[in-house]
Amino acid sequence: MIKNREEGEAHAKALVEFVESQNFVMKSRDIHEALKNVQKMGNTQRVNHKNRLSAHFFFIDGMTMKCSLPGCQGLKNPLEYRKEAFLNHLNRKHGKNHFSEYYMITFVMEDRKLRVMDATQLKKWFEDETNRQKTVIETKSWIEKVYSEWSQKVPDATEDQNFKFCSDANEFKRKFEASNQEFNWTAIFIVNNSSGIGSYPDKDTLLRVMREKAPAEKVPYHDLHQELFLKTSLKEFLDLFQTKAVYRLTVYNLLSFETSHIPELKELIDIPQFAKDRTMFNGLVLQNDNYNYDRYVIMSQAGAFTNFHIDFGGTSTYFYQLTGTKIFYFVEPTDANIAALGLYIRTNKFDGGPGWFGNIPGINVKKAALTAGNTLFMAAGWIHAVYTVTDSIAISGSIFDRSRIEMNLKIRKYEKEARMRKDRTVVQFVKYHYEYLIQKLLPEVGDHNIRKVAMVTTEEQKLVWKTFNQILDLMVEEHRKKKPADQAANSVKLCEEARNRQKKIQNGSV
Ligand SMILES: [Zn+2]
Ligand SMILES: [Zn+2]
Repeated sequence: MIKNREEGEAHAKALVEFVESQNFVMKSRDIHEALKNVQKMGNTQRVNHKNRLSAHFFFIDGMTMKCSLPGCQGLKNPLEYRKEAFLNHLNRKHGKNHFSEYYMITFVMEDRKLRVMDATQLKKWFEDETNRQKTVIETKSWIEKVYSEWSQKVPDATEDQNFKFCSDANEFKRKFEASNQEFNWTAIFIVNNSSGIGSYPDKDTLLRVMREKAPAEKVPYHDLHQELFLKTSLKEFLDLFQTKAVYRLTVYNLLSFETSHIPELKELIDIPQFAKDRTMFNGLVLQNDNYNYDRYVIMSQAGAFTNFHIDFGGTSTYFYQLTGTKIFYFVEPTDANIAALGLYIRTNKFDGGPGWFGNIPGINVKKAALTAGNTLFMAAGWIHAVYTVTDSIAISGSIFDRSRIEMNLKIRKYEKEARMRKDRTVVQFVKYHYEYLIQKLLPEVGDHNIRKVAMVTTEEQKLVWKTFNQILDLMVEEHRKKKPADQAANSVKLCEEARNRQKKIQNGSV
């Protein structure tokens, strides 16, 4: 028996030394192998002549810990030394009623090497790990220690030129028109009762169909507390998502599951008419490049946080909250704010420490909660972060709004400068805009040209003329960089001729 602290610490030290002398254990390549090797070591070997090796072995695997006892299901990494956490685990899961920190040995992988710690070292490790996590967005410590405090200080969005709160579809329509958004949609609208805005399946139907029609391909998802991007089958993800809260060891977030290619889901999700009316690309013939960005099912467990970003390509968004609650944090897409976000991403790599985007002086953040049944309509370019308060399922889509070509081009430039990963951009950005130019805008300009009408009178004419010019400039620039196919070259030439003719009409020289 250990009589005092000194003896206890000596015992722990002897244990560490003994384990470190076991080469086959120390050579373990990962924490699972270490666990197996420690089990092989047995717990009856002599440490020295006086003490028999009797120890509690624990293994840190990210935010989970396991012990060496058979069938261990693990416990949540407490990230701080609490005797009860380990005693309770040994007692409830393995029927042991003794725990002493002087008998506790913990293993962790560091730089691909196994590290052995006694309780004193473990306490220090918890402290260091907590401090590290405080700079890593989305981790448990960051959410608990940094985000929570920050969020308290962020003011609620209130009705102004940027934020419009609407009780229902009618008020949404009224406010959209009253604030002159038709030809320049810039504001954020939050609609309380979404009836009449799109139509969606209920939660049970959605989950059932997702299970039944799960595609063969794996879906990418995010394990936030383990800081991992993983892939699994949709069915398996649904199981993970529906794990009871008490059994959860981490937080999962599914952000990129788009359903347009699954007919049964496409059938169930009827996106808002508003989005259909406003998108540039509705009704375009796109051959093999169908527009697959407007029907996401987003599933986030409570505690998930998505860092500040701009939706790809400068798309506008509809976001229907089917179940649960989320808090959105909005930053207006001024040139200065977009530049600040670009700089933050390039230099801090999404870091959550002192240089975190949410803390940059002069960045004015507003928050708004979305609860079940609400719809958010977010105009192009808005910078936003999202926290999930309770388990959430949302249906969302990104559209290229017909009134915001400048923002689309601005965000495309920002994405290039921030060296955004391809899967965080709309890869067919140029192709879609090209088709819109040729299939929709050119005929309209051509029609005005035939009738010798200058496109300067109505808001609609001005919008078409402006968009036509900007996309045409984009194409000319693209074709300078990369020689186009003959057909595309000819089409752009036709556009340039139409542009010259319309300019002459506007000058009065025709
Ligand atoms: Zn155990
Ligand atoms: Zn987003």
